[in-house]
Amino acid sequence: MLNSLRSIVQEVNGARDLKSALEIIVTRVRAAMETQVCSVYLRDPDGNYVLMATEGLNTSAVGQVRLRPDEGLVGRVVTREEPINLEQAESHPSYQYFPETGEERYSSFLGVPIIHHRKVLGVLVVQQVERRRFDEGDEAFLVTMSAQLAGVIAHAEATGVMVAFGQKTAEAKFLGASGAPGIAVGEAVVMTPPADLRSVPYKKCDNVDAELEFFQQCLAAVRNDIKGLGEQLKTRLNREEQALFDAYLAMLDDASLGGEVTERIRQGTNAPYAWAEVILEHERTFNSMNDAYLRERATDLRDLGRRVLSYLQESTQKCRIYPDRTVLIGEELTASMLGEIPKDKLVGLVSVQGSSNSHVAILARAMDIPTVMGAVDLPYTQMEGRTAIVDGYKGVVYSDPSDQLLKHYKAIYQEEQELVKGLEALKDLPCETLDKHRLPLWVNTGLMTDVVRSLERGAEGVGLYRTEVPFLLRDRFPSEEEQRVIYREQLEAFAPHTVTMRTLDIGGDKSLPYFPIEEANPFLGWRGIRVTLDHPEIFLAQVRAMIKASEGLDNLRILLPMITSVPEMEIAKSLIYRAFNELLEENHDVRLPPIGVMIEVPAAVYQARELAARVDFLSVGSNDLTQYLLAVDRNNARVADLYQAYHPAVLRALRQVANDGHSQGVSVGICGELAGDPGAAVLLMAMGYDVLSMNATNLPKVKAVIRSITMEQAESLLDEVMVLSDADQVTDKVNQALRDAGATRLIRPQVDDALPASAS
Ligand code: PEP
Ligand code: MG
Repeated sequence: MLNSLRSIVQEVNGARDLKSALEIIVTRVRAAMETQVCSVYLRDPDGNYVLMATEGLNTSAVGQVRLRPDEGLVGRVVTREEPINLEQAESHPSYQYFPETGEERYSSFLGVPIIHHRKVLGVLVVQQVERRRFDEGDEAFLVTMSAQLAGVIAHAEATGVMVAFGQKTAEAKFLGASGAPGIAVGEAVVMTPPADLRSVPYKKCDNVDAELEFFQQCLAAVRNDIKGLGEQLKTRLNREEQALFDAYLAMLDDASLGGEVTERIRQGTNAPYAWAEVILEHERTFNSMNDAYLRERATDLRDLGRRVLSYLQESTQKCRIYPDRTVLIGEELTASMLGEIPKDKLVGLVSVQGSSNSHVAILARAMDIPTVMGAVDLPYTQMEGRTAIVDGYKGVVYSDPSDQLLKHYKAIYQEEQELVKGLEALKDLPCETLDKHRLPLWVNTGLMTDVVRSLERGAEGVGLYRTEVPFLLRDRFPSEEEQRVIYREQLEAFAPHTVTMRTLDIGGDKSLPYFPIEEANPFLGWRGIRVTLDHPEIFLAQVRAMIKASEGLDNLRILLPMITSVPEMEIAKSLIYRAFNELLEENHDVRLPPIGVMIEVPAAVYQARELAARVDFLSVGSNDLTQYLLAVDRNNARVADLYQAYHPAVLRALRQVANDGHSQGVSVGICGELAGDPGAAVLLMAMGYDVLSMNATNLPKVKAVIRSITMEQAESLLDEVMVLSDADQVTDKVNQALRDAGATRLIRPQVDDALPASAS
């Protein structure tokens, strides 16, 4: 059973669209359960359940049989959200007869709901003529199958919407995580790694004759390559092995793959997509065969597929012209891909893989490009040329938006632009409340571009310089001298303001290409200070570089990430002292910088007092603190709703850290994303935080809100909020306070509140 379960799921996963996914399900499940009928019903946009695929019922009923959730046995499975297993279905009160299915012959019925994200997506049904009580094992098999398939169907459904509609447009919404805030509306451009058969974007071909000729040219080029390869290896291969090259050549013929692709091009699909589609279909067939030799042939096919595809893509990629408002979409965007697009044309980014902490997201925030990460259900290969909306606040992407939705987002975009313009005037004004309480606003940096933007926006210091960013951009660890140069640049740019440099924080989801860390549970594994304490040579070189870089400027602070205990901090501190003493011995004219720890794990919250007594400052990393307190992976789109920065537990922890740090007379700051949230900034100020450090984009907004409120108002808001028991109540209360302070426009756009019904 386990084997067939696995292989069915694998096969369904490989399906190119919803229709083929469903067909695989019904065929394979029927065979595995040795029953006569297997059908899938899926929910349509009106909330009815439609027969979408069947093996055993009349196939002409597909798309015709449609049930309300209160109709028939299928409806009953939907409303009960539980399996129904009947030996004699026709005598059940909910039984309903649909002549078009030929259903009256089937007596036994087992239906299980297909549930995804708490919603019943559909129902998976097996039936049989003879009375048969499907046993517990059958039921468990179907339930397991359905649970496994729910995500696949949801994904295929998203893809299927677009494939089914072909070139017609239908608005669709895809969830991901926020990568960089802001709204972008533009034309989708799909960027794929070269010669990747699974990620070829769908495109129509307008000139069939020219496309056919181009395809033949590419085939000819590959034939040449293969012949050349065969010649080269002739003396080293036996006759049988040489025959493989002939087999390759034959596959390219019109009677074989070449002919199938030609047919699809004639029907209007461009050559790269048609080729990839044909290869993948054949690959699936080979893979599903029991014969190991034939399964091996799938590898040859893939190889041939890639060879031809690289020719097909070579000429198309070269002469790419980017639209004026490009929304770049890819399975896994990389920094180098961003570089290919003229900066003034790039308005938004969407990556199917990755998280808000991925390198590309950090870069996007630095460049102020609205970005959605981890949009796992986005059928990105179908997106080329479509209109896309990137909602970088909520981490949502829309394709082919309705006019109404476009209008709505364009209005928000316009408002944003005006807001940014209006806020420019605040650059040189102090960040202080109406009753003159000063709150320094610092920035988080990582790249040189951040520095320029931060200074333009009036940052008063750097609360977090993420040193892993320059490490990520290289193909080996930078040397001590290379690091010194980079750090010097940061320190000089901000001098005399303080620059807080965090020691290397890798692990978790930040792995260096040249120092991979592979673990089952990376966020609870070897990350942050744990890595660098195990590698003192890396830590010492970095700290030496930092201290040397600060020579004559003396504006450096050193911050230690992921501290979970006092001894960890003590060891790190002693290494810093050691580096400092070495530098003195080497006659560098340097000062010992203030040393601080990040409070980003619950253990550090409960030991904030002990830690504070031994360092010069504390800085809360609310991004990680929230994930560890709430046990919610900060990068997992599936649990993104549970990642609540305003969760009462988080707020209590934040207040406790401020109090405990102050009890030891040290400065307490915060450098997580929460600091850049205007509403949260008010609460943090009231808790007594001495400095807020955030991305440069949000700095003017936070300044505006602080300047529109009194400390007294902030404190009474905090009192009210701290007695609330859930995050939504806190959000409402904070938003109301911002409205009362006349700062309505600074509230994080509640985009969904005003969305047209189709989009929510
Ligand atoms: C944090 O965890 O809040 C933080 C600032 O560090 P990073 O986001 O780099 O993990
Ligand atoms: Mg962190």
